[in-house]
Amino acid sequence: MLKPVLRRAWRGRNTVQFGVTPAHAVTLGPVDIATGSFLELLDGTRGLPLLREEARTLDLSDRHVDVLVRRLAEAGLLDDPRAAGPRADVLRQRVEVMERQRPDVASLSVVHPGPGEGPRRMAARRAMRVQVRGAGRVGASIAAVLSGSGVGHVEVLDGGRAEPEDVAPAGLPAAAVGERRDTAARRLVRRAAAGPAPRSTGAERGAGDGQPGLSLIVVAPRDGLSVYAPVPDTAAPWIASGTPHLYAGVIEATGVVGPLVLPGGTGCAGCLELHRADRDSQWPRMLAQWRSGRRGVVPACDLGLATAVAGLAAAHALSFLDGELPASTGARWEAALPLLDWRSERIGPHADCSCGAAEHAEGEGASGSVPAQDTMAG
Ligand SMILES: [Zn+2]
Repeated sequence: MLKPVLRRAWRGRNTVQFGVTPAHAVTLGPVDIATGSFLELLDGTRGLPLLREEARTLDLSDRHVDVLVRRLAEAGLLDDPRAAGPRADVLRQRVEVMERQRPDVASLSVVHPGPGEGPRRMAARRAMRVQVRGAGRVGASIAAVLSGSGVGHVEVLDGGRAEPEDVAPAGLPAAAVGERRDTAARRLVRRAAAGPAPRSTGAERGAGDGQPGLSLIVVAPRDGLSVYAPVPDTAAPWIASGTPHLYAGVIEATGVVGPLVLPGGTGCAGCLELHRADRDSQWPRMLAQWRSGRRGVVPACDLGLATAVAGLAAAHALSFLDGELPASTGARWEAALPLLDWRSERIGPHADCSCGAAEHAEGEGASGSVPAQDTMAG
């Protein structure tokens, strides 16, 4: 079947455009009237033998049909749910989950062009384990969005009890105030999920704890300073274990998403701090002052900005979990109130950092920027 999610329109008399926006739109041409009629038959109700038969009544040869179908497949326009693999077949039987997740599967099928990729990637999400560190306005919301997006194992770490200022429409509910933050966040994650958490199979299990290994850590502490100027020591175990991690938070009136750190491959918290000190010799002294003291002060956190940061961070995390390298890889996106224009800053590897990313990057043009997006339109 042609992917129903891409809107179809005739661009002139003999060219068909699939999709609206430049990021994923594809044009096909020249298309004659018979072929145009044949496209209407690709709605998932016919297999190839029947398609060939009906094509003959339109005076289209078998060869014409085969070439057309191959071109459509190469352009990422064909879907075939049966091609999604056994894990997706299991998921498809869970009707209530699939109904909730349908827009997400459709989005995956736009981004990942192969037939059956939507259900396949959704099934893969269910086997993944993500840890969110922080259950404030940003962290809890990220955890809820990841869980609602089909990530099967989302755990949230935070200390203390939920305060009124932690409450957010996408995060902890007002009823959670006074409850342990980690317990409240666990319940939030369960509620946001489209169905009960999947049981992990033997093949997906990590080192003996009965859970799949961590695919990603999202660092979203309630104090945004730990995102804007993350403490390298905190990240040391993740660097040592090679665990990818993504920073997200709000400090004062600035929202921050990134960097997504691929240990040993892209700039880390240590690289960030070293670069900053290179540019500003007073930075370490100020950092020491900021990091000590100021206990008990409620940090500023605009709810709209926090929700936007949580949504964007969750989308970057999902893109990574789905097998891509989003624009936060080795870069940080920032938006400050009141203008809120998102800007990115590259966080390159630093030669003096023990993470080793600088050595790895040497041969590959370390000064490169985030690659521009390819478009297929036109
Ligand atoms: Zn580093």
